[in-house]
Amino acid sequence: MNHSQTQLTFRKTADCPTSATLLAYRSEKLSQKVVALVRKHLADCEFCNAELPLLAYHTPARRSPGAPEIPMNLRILAESILSRT
Ligand SMILES: [Zn+2]
Repeated sequence: MNHSQTQLTFRKTADCPTSATLLAYRSEKLSQKVVALVRKHLADCEFCNAELPLLAYHTPARRSPGAPEIPMNLRILAESILSRT
């Protein structure tokens, strides 16, 4: 049986460090040993490579003060009522 493996499995595996570890890696809070492990993992893990820049936006302390979003269907309804006048 020809069992061909795809090299690019774009998902987290059991070997993947957690988001918390990646965050700590970004902020250089890890020991050199762990940093080396994460770096080694990043060398051949597409998912973690993709996740790392995303974590840059993930700052738990900061919350966006933006206005509550209006659901799209409600907005369309409101606009259709307003344009009827
Ligand atoms: Zn990974």
